Amino acid sequence: MAALRDRIGRAGGDPERVTIVAVTKGHGPEVCRAAVGAGLTRLGENRAQELLAKSAEVADAEWHFVGRLQTNKVRALAPVVALWESVDRRPVIDELARRAPGARILVQVNISGEDAKGGCPPERTAGLVHAARDAGLEVRGLMGIGPIGPPEAARPGFRLLTALADELGLAERSMGMTADLEVAIEEGSTMIRVGTGLFGPRQGAQDPPD
Ligand SMILES: *Cc1c(COP(=O)(O)O)cnc(C)c1O
Repeated sequence: MAALRDRIGRAGGDPERVTIVAVTKGHGPEVCRAAVGAGLTRLGENRAQELLAKSAEVADAEWHFVGRLQTNKVRALAPVVALWESVDRRPVIDELARRAPGARILVQVNISGEDAKGGCPPERTAGLVHAARDAGLEVRGLMGIGPIGPPEAARPGFRLLTALADELGLAERSMGMTADLEVAIEEGSTMIRVGTGLFGPRQGAQDPPD
């Protein structure tokens, strides 16, 4: 936690202003409770079942859904998710409008060119943001995942995400993970999503959707 704040500060970010989302996937509820105890109250999960199981045990966290979102999971997640970070297509917007009216969302943009990471193509971002607003959702900002490779490889995508957010008047820019958070902060991140950098390696790490 102190080490992470150091990294944020050294990258030129104000540790008070850059929100940390502690990504607890692959760890049990005890890790979630310890995070909340240490002041990391925003917890991120990328799988519906895992989020539901842990949020039932750790109610005093603010849960962020950061993974590929399937429409059939929206209903169950709706009562517990505070910020939907990975909204990237119309059917999900429609389902959120139905099951979680007024939900706070980020539109996820594909800034890596890697299909597996999800996100809408950059040129569709404005259309989705407007559709989500028309559907009554509260669009707080954009989210993006950097490419595999050296951190520097993420810079153009992060820069693009910031430019899109500026253009659309969106305050929140969720970008940067353990490996590339410095580059993300230099490029204007307001929200970093950190797992390994806080909790060490995950056991049986899983990235595909459930
Ligand atoms: C796992 C995950 C993270 C955290 O990754 P680390 O490299 O462990 O920091 C951040 N964002 C998303 C969407 C993730 O799935």
